Amino acid sequence: MTAPANNDGLMEELVGLCKRRGFIFPSSEIYGGYNGFFDYGPLGVELRNNIKHAWWRDFVQRRDDIEGLDSSIIMHPAIWKASGHVDGFSDPMIDCKESKLRYRADQLFFHPVVLDGESVGYVALVEGAGAAEQIKRAKKLRDLLDRKQSTLDEAQLAGTVEAAEASAEQREQTLGPDATAAGTLTEPREFKLMFETKVGPLADDSATAYLRPETAQGIFANYKNVVDTGRVKIPFGIAQIGKAFRNEITPRNFIFRSREFEQMEIEYFIAPEADWQGLHRQWLDTCIDWLVSIGLPRESITEDVHPQDKLAFYSRATTDLMFHFPHGEQELWGIACRSDYDLNQHQEHSGKSMEIFDEAAKAKYVPHVIEPSLGVDRTLLAILSAAYTEDEVPNDKGKAEKRTLLKFHPRIAPYKAAVFPLLKNKPELVERARALYERLQKRWNVFYDASGAIGRRYRRQDEIGTPFGITIDFDTIEKDGTVTLRDRDSCEQRRLSEDELITFLDEQIDG
Ligand code: ATP
Repeated sequence: MTAPANNDGLMEELVGLCKRRGFIFPSSEIYGGYNGFFDYGPLGVELRNNIKHAWWRDFVQRRDDIEGLDSSIIMHPAIWKASGHVDGFSDPMIDCKESKLRYRADQLFFHPVVLDGESVGYVALVEGAGAAEQIKRAKKLRDLLDRKQSTLDEAQLAGTVEAAEASAEQREQTLGPDATAAGTLTEPREFKLMFETKVGPLADDSATAYLRPETAQGIFANYKNVVDTGRVKIPFGIAQIGKAFRNEITPRNFIFRSREFEQMEIEYFIAPEADWQGLHRQWLDTCIDWLVSIGLPRESITEDVHPQDKLAFYSRATTDLMFHFPHGEQELWGIACRSDYDLNQHQEHSGKSMEIFDEAAKAKYVPHVIEPSLGVDRTLLAILSAAYTEDEVPNDKGKAEKRTLLKFHPRIAPYKAAVFPLLKNKPELVERARALYERLQKRWNVFYDASGAIGRRYRRQDEIGTPFGITIDFDTIEKDGTVTLRDRDSCEQRRLSEDELITFLDEQIDG
């Protein structure tokens, strides 16, 4: 079994499959789409809900030390002032004076171009651009310099300069990613990422509010409420799932970076003297285990430890869990030790005490936090890319046929099973299949399909990741009441009774 060798190809396949089978559509498509926004179709919303449900179940309902929360998206603007977002939540951006496009400085790289051994300038490429694109742009620069006959040293393209670090002279000699002449890129400038809106009847500055760029501040703002009304004791966490909005300048790589997305965040409050390194490690392991439990291969997950000199002054450590996405290894889950910075900021700005009394230690303090922060959409993209498989299986006539399948874990698959009567024109088969379908539907999202050859029906389900196919045939009716259960990945079939089937599905789906 193979995934397509070329990862750019994999992303294209995923985008096509998601559109074709109703997982994800570009937002506002009938008006030409809207960059950075996506709509989740009938299968996408199921997958998305299953991811969120699995997370909520494992991190909130199955733990005694974490409570749930659902705070408003628009909150008092003072929260964003206190958190530092109003003044500091920005990205350094580089503009192209020619194409009018804007790039994130930390995602733009200048690659030196060497012709006949002589360094002649740079081509700027956005992170993740492939080797073919680099060579194409380097040849474009060679043409611009009127040196068509010169030999391009392709090996030299590998050396890079981060755009943010480039000198004015280097910028002058650089061909931007979408430019037709060199020297069109500006120096990095700060660009605010929060979406603004107006609340109330006034249109002046006093009415300015923000769409939240993270769910975390809703947790900090409610920390006192949870402490005062619940039975929490240190260490404990507050978890929230919800929409976040960022005016990303370069939304791209499908749903990896969008302007409206959803986060699943936890603030885990610990004593200032706690072994935060040990707890941080525990959180990393718990998060990795969870990703594996919903079907991501362990070997696709790595850790990126942020260097101490790049951390914010209040941060003690941050490690990102990286996933091997089709466009490269990128952040999936950020796990940060944020000290007591956020609570202290809110204590200072609101004038309300954020201290907790620690019964065990008989001490009063503002707790520190560990913050595991995960994107729903990035998780969904990771799951799709890990699940996408192409292989060959025998068709109804026994001939090998290419098939595409999504190997979703049963827990998160949109449909858990599909029920088929072997033939649609035999009422006794149809009746029995419908009855089983309705029985299963009481517990799970299942699919009923009576049309077409049975092999075609299996194939349609494989492509949307339904793990189990259940067929009602004449043996079911005339002999022992057993049904055929077909496994999506191995295509193996076996017979079992309806009660055995329910027990099996229960184990596979609900664990
Ligand atoms: P990046 O460096 O990729 O912009 P970040 O470090 O700013 O991400 P955080 O602020 O730590 O991200 O957000 C926590 C999580 O939210 C990320 O790990 C990611 O899963 C998700 N996330 C952040 N920005 C986006 C986005 N624009 N689109 C989709 N998911 C996002």
